[in-house]
Amino acid sequence: MGRLEGKVALITGAGSGMGRAATQRFVREGACVVAADINGEAVDQTVSGTDGKAVAVAGDVTKEADVARFVKTASDRFGRLDVLYNNAGIFDEADESVLTTSDAIWDRTMAINVKGLAFCCKHGIPELIKAGGGSVINIASFVALVGCTVPQDAYTASKGAVIALTKSLAVQFGPKHVRANAICPGPIETPLMRDLLKDEAKKRVRLNRIPMGRFGQADDVVSLAVFLASDESTWTNGAALVVDGGITSNYF
Ligand code: NAD
Repeated sequence: MGRLEGKVALITGAGSGMGRAATQRFVREGACVVAADINGEAVDQTVSGTDGKAVAVAGDVTKEADVARFVKTASDRFGRLDVLYNNAGIFDEADESVLTTSDAIWDRTMAINVKGLAFCCKHGIPELIKAGGGSVINIASFVALVGCTVPQDAYTASKGAVIALTKSLAVQFGPKHVRANAICPGPIETPLMRDLLKDEAKKRVRLNRIPMGRFGQADDVVSLAVFLASDESTWTNGAALVVDGGITSNYF
């Protein structure tokens, strides 16, 4: 029997990288999944081969009506929602120091990474409460925990906001049996990192800091998400958990 048997999850950003890997792994663990992404074609591909256990929905987390539709799909198709997995996020390559990052990049990054996640909570958490409790999994980043000499300041600030919001959710909704935790992945080899890793100098400076000597893979993160989605984690609430090969522990 799978570790997520009987659970229904909404996973955002499910068309690529960690969201796609999470959708497919959650289904293998017995869950039903609403897989949401702004890229409809990509998320259709994610759910192909899941025998109807995962259903694709196209939409934008920054549009509240789209988010309401993601959540409604869970109740219409599967009758409930147990897990809200806020994974959709962007990193703009031109997002560097506060000295150079543009107004447009700040707005887009905060809109998707913070406001979009908040909309998913606004519409998803009442459904988790209705189901008698559940789990919110918010994807933050290790960059919210340590400074970085190759800055990505809008992204970093957005992920710091995700951790702060997670703690507020944990305290507000814990009494309703809804727990909220953040995962802080280190650098993971996904399409989000692809362009950055093409630059040998940018790649090397990051790799040199990782004690495990390799970049992470999507499944390294998804394994923790399975724990947080399952009943194994019913007393884990308000945590910001790193999965980073030791990068945030590395002084020199
Ligand atoms: P990815 O780029 O491979 O996938 C992100 C998905 O989100 C894409 O399918 C994209 O279409 C979707 N998306 C973007 N904007 C959206 C919107 N407005 N509405 C709905 N969907 C939208 O990225 P990934 O590396 O798998 O990242 C997943 C999460 O993990 C992100 O929140 C990211 O910030 C975070 N993260 C990534 C890394 C890394 O190194 N890859 C490290 C730490 C945290």
